[in-house]
Amino acid sequence: MDKFNKFIYLDNAATTKTAPEVVNAMIPFFSENYGNASSIYRLGTESKRAIMQSREIIAKSLNGDPAEIYFTAGGTESDNWALVAAAELSEAKGGHIITSKIEHHGVLHTCEYLEKRGYDVTYVDVDEKGIINLADLKKAIRKDTILISVMFANNEIGTIQPIKEIGELAKENGILFHTDAVQAYGHLAIDVKELNIDLLSASGHKLNGPKGIGFLYIRKGVKIRSFIHGGAQERSRRAGTENVPGIVGLGVAAKLAFSQLEQRAAKVQKLRDYLIEQIEKEIPYCQLNGDREKRLPNNVNFSFRFIEGESLLIMLDMKGICASSGSACTSGSLEPSHVLLAIGLPHEIAHGSLRLTLSEDNTMEEIDETVVAVKEAVGKLRQMSPLYEDFIKN
Ligand code: PLP
Repeated sequence: MDKFNKFIYLDNAATTKTAPEVVNAMIPFFSENYGNASSIYRLGTESKRAIMQSREIIAKSLNGDPAEIYFTAGGTESDNWALVAAAELSEAKGGHIITSKIEHHGVLHTCEYLEKRGYDVTYVDVDEKGIINLADLKKAIRKDTILISVMFANNEIGTIQPIKEIGELAKENGILFHTDAVQAYGHLAIDVKELNIDLLSASGHKLNGPKGIGFLYIRKGVKIRSFIHGGAQERSRRAGTENVPGIVGLGVAAKLAFSQLEQRAAKVQKLRDYLIEQIEKEIPYCQLNGDREKRLPNNVNFSFRFIEGESLLIMLDMKGICASSGSACTSGSLEPSHVLLAIGLPHEIAHGSLRLTLSEDNTMEEIDETVVAVKEAVGKLRQMSPLYEDFIKN
């Protein structure tokens, strides 16, 4: 991005800006503190100590134990590890997994892979707000169900799932519970004990940390297999020389996020609610996707009738506004978002969707500018739409 051109960043669900404190903490581990954490001399033990410190910060942030945190290369890897290794535990017990239709592809594609290997997967529906139906989830449980995997909060429409109830259901039935908390970790309070979570995925770059680093929380006593073989790192469960700068950065990002969790959430939620209110006031024929209350503090997702989301994104980009029409991983594809289809939107409405995800760095002025830009772009696109013309005539 040209640093002299002003832009408004509203795509924090895709990734966040790395905090300066995070960058500063990482730099020494690229330069003078470059030791391998497995080496016994001081340069190595310095790296080892830094890794331990991050592990402790992260464990504390979740009410877990440092021995339950395993660093990975991010959310997708953590999801893959949790699902594949948990499924493989089922050899003696059977092979059934329950998940939801609105999971991230890190979970959904891993489930498809497991189905090809002979496992059975039930994809539970969500309601029109994107919230999982607990009665359906209960009904889906079988004698051979080994794992329930339901995301903490959705990356597209921001809905927060009833995690406590799902955790209780899993525990009562002796089933492992995994949650993809990539969008929630660092933004919502999470207590793995209170919520009965056995496995939890998180990723650094969603909380102002670096990319390519994340972790899997594995509750003590859950004996899922190692993910990568070849060394003693991460208690031999995820081998490979550690990404020390990344781990240090993730630790600092977690510390920053959890030290001001409520203040940050309140600030960003105020911006979110103002943005929702203004769009609803200014732009006709739009609908908010997702639940108004059980929603990530930074997520806004609207469908605008008679327009095409990709064109809207291009027009916003020309005004310097970074937004998204679905998850970053699927943008560029012409298929409408599986999440919007799962909440019951028809294809043509799902195609006209816009996701704006805020951060505490955004200002009211930026929100006002965005509303003006969206209104103008939607208006122009509707003028070119034969469907809109027919609608107005009739
Ligand atoms: N899960 C969810 C809910 C996400 O939103 C994302 C990224 O957008 C991921 C998993 C993947 O995380 P990563 O980019 O760290 O692989």
